Amino acid sequence: MSDSLKQLVWLKTCDLRVKDNSALYHGAAAGPVIAVFVVTPEQYTQHSDALIKQDFWYRNLLKLSEELDKLNIPLKILQCASFKELPDELFKFSVINNVSEIHFNKQYELNERACEDVVNERFEKNGIQVNCYSDTLFFEPGTLLTGKNTYYTVFTAFKNLFNKEFEKLAWQVWPKPKKQIPIEVEADSVLAWIDETDIRVDLWPAGESAAKRRLNEFIKNRVLNYKDTRDIPSINGTSTISPYLAAGVISARQCFVALESLGNKQSNIGAVTWRTELIWREFYKHILIGFPQVSQHLPFKAKTSKIVWNDNEEHFKAWCEGRTGVPLVDAAMRQLVQTGWMHNRLRMVTAMYLSKNLFLDWRKGEEFFMQHLIDGDLSANNGGWQWSASTGTDAAPYFRIFNPVTQSQRFDLEGKFIRKFVPELKNCDKKTIHDPWASKTRPIKLDYPKPIVDLKITRQLAIEKFKELG
Ligand SMILES: Cc1cc2nc3c(=O)[nH]c(=O)nc-3n(C[C@H](O)[C@H](O)[C@H](O)COP(=O)(O)OP(=O)(O)OC[C@H]3O[C@@H](n4cnc5c(N)ncnc54)[C@H](O)[C@@H]3O)c2cc1C
Repeated sequence: MSDSLKQLVWLKTCDLRVKDNSALYHGAAAGPVIAVFVVTPEQYTQHSDALIKQDFWYRNLLKLSEELDKLNIPLKILQCASFKELPDELFKFSVINNVSEIHFNKQYELNERACEDVVNERFEKNGIQVNCYSDTLFFEPGTLLTGKNTYYTVFTAFKNLFNKEFEKLAWQVWPKPKKQIPIEVEADSVLAWIDETDIRVDLWPAGESAAKRRLNEFIKNRVLNYKDTRDIPSINGTSTISPYLAAGVISARQCFVALESLGNKQSNIGAVTWRTELIWREFYKHILIGFPQVSQHLPFKAKTSKIVWNDNEEHFKAWCEGRTGVPLVDAAMRQLVQTGWMHNRLRMVTAMYLSKNLFLDWRKGEEFFMQHLIDGDLSANNGGWQWSASTGTDAAPYFRIFNPVTQSQRFDLEGKFIRKFVPELKNCDKKTIHDPWASKTRPIKLDYPKPIVDLKITRQLAIEKFKELG
């Protein structure tokens, strides 16, 4: 037990960085500081957090502890089952270590907020000051509202107000904390809480430097072409920064600073389009607060809860395993399972195929994505799924259903992406590969499943089911 008063910085799975971390910066500025991270394995399982994502958290924690060590900031790793026990663990630790103030960055998911509320109450009641920071977003939910004081449900209107208010917004990137005089708390070594060996670590190097390199390379070489390349899954046309943003290894502010470094070129259509994607990220987080039903497994549009989805385990399994007989869908699903990431265009294609052609409950797809995505994030994932299933805010109208074969012919013209993930089709020519069983020029031997459903018929059935809702 140490008797000098200390600041406690509670780090979460959304802010695993030293630079531009509001809670860490302010906590360290207020006095001797200890950082703490609480591992909650049962909670991760309850939230369907992918093993590859948990492994990414772990590897980033290792890097973070090295960086904190250079600043003489000890990192303590606590562990308890779930958010239920977390406030107690944190409080016990704070009492033993003479903590006078706790600092943390806000989260917006329902369970995370409930946990923060308990921490707030517990600490304040016992005379420990609570400092909670807005860090992940530029604008707090509730500060960008319509003329009627309601949350926006249409993205473009939200984006317009975001841009208008952004002009007036005072924001800054926080430097990393200053090196402190060593204090009497021993740092823990970070122990892995999952035992997973089959992970593509090479694709997703951990640490702030790796994130910064990825961001800088994208801004320097690729962002200006983003508008043209972002929809082609066979090329590296997007930033692939999503896992780093989701785990807070890099901040949205740092992304905006990188855009500003372009100077005049910031108004280039590629840069503007990429900036808009970051505003989508913000939009869906506001939706979590404005419409809490979306984090309770409910559709945003209440009337769509009347839909009776098909219950076909065979179809679901085929979708999960990339065996639907639709090459682009199968290639995308295999990309997800093999790499922990899927291209945005393909997330829309596979989500629409599941919810419209297979007419399976979008929540099953949402959960499967969470179980496999390294960037799995409740707000963006739920938003993307509900958009695709036409149950969400600003959703695709129910009659606008992507045809995955047409999408394939348009965005994977040569079939390069399909060939990479569906090697069974590597001998198909670029015309045949998008729908091999429909083509007379297919190879005589084709070791690839026939389509499990007819795209035209199922599309029509889905439209009728939605029409019935009135
Ligand atoms: C069904 C579905 C599920 C999705 N699930 C997730 C998810 O779990 N986590 C996640 O981060 N994104 C999700 N997205 C959004 C998007 O597909 C990914 O953010 C993007 O593919 C990540 O690649 P990138 O970093 O190269 O993106 P870039 O194109 O480089 O975009 C930059 C950043 O903007 C943000 N962004 C881009 N598009 C969106 C969007 N539509 N909604 C919210 N933020 C966006 C991301 O943080 C992304 O990293 C989902 C989209 C759909 C249609």
